[in-house]
Amino acid sequence: MTTNDSKKRKCEDENRGFNLEWEENYAFTSQGNKPLCLICHTKLRQNKGSNVKRHHETNHENFSSNYPPKSDIRKSKLTELKSALKSQQRFIKIFSMESDAMTEACFVMSWNIARAKHPYSDCEFVKKNLADVVAVLEPKNKNLQRLIEKIPCSRRTTQRRISQISADIKVTVQNDLKSSVAFSLALDESTDIQDNPQLAIFVRYISSDMTVKEELLNLVDLRETTRGIDIKNALNEALARANVPFNKLVSVATDGAPAMVGINIKD
Ligand SMILES: [Zn+2]
Repeated sequence: MTTNDSKKRKCEDENRGFNLEWEENYAFTSQGNKPLCLICHTKLRQNKGSNVKRHHETNHENFSSNYPPKSDIRKSKLTELKSALKSQQRFIKIFSMESDAMTEACFVMSWNIARAKHPYSDCEFVKKNLADVVAVLEPKNKNLQRLIEKIPCSRRTTQRRISQISADIKVTVQNDLKSSVAFSLALDESTDIQDNPQLAIFVRYISSDMTVKEELLNLVDLRETTRGIDIKNALNEALARANVPFNKLVSVATDGAPAMVGINIKD
């Protein structure tokens, strides 16, 4: 055989589909067009007879003596292995769908807690209420009650989810601003509960889906003084940190206070 013939044969061998005889001969089935061992659930990378045979003979050498080829006992063992694989996969699918729903439910609760400015611990309280109400309205729906019970909502989880939502909003706003044609700012100076001055920066823009959006871009600590120059510096710093393209800024709205409109700026 020439080298070319050998290469051609190798290529054909690799491109071949699953051979149905591998099920009876080596306890393999096809999954995602790849051979999967029914005994140990190992998936091979290629539909290659020699690899399938090698895997079976190396890892499951007693299979053929326990279940002789062409025997009824082998046939029923293969049927049993196939149904075990199916139910395992069904369980994995249900489990991943359930855990996706749990995560989403947890995000929804955390989002509502953050919007209402409630403490993180209220998530547990909301969940308890939800469980009690469902137990009254749907007493027979044990599955729904079990799902509610499984929603993760400890203080730590709620705090982590809110941080993830916040980070996501930040990235979305930054990307939207980059692709928007123009945006405007609204600035408001305020104080926190300890009387420390703060600057709230709101941004308004048209996003890529052509909707007008308004978001709080940042809440900046003004330290001690609130002169025009302090506000200007704080604003510059916040916009630079958020990668906001300054050249797209078309208007700035304030309450008209002297420090806000720059009357007191003295460099
Ligand atoms: Zn195996």
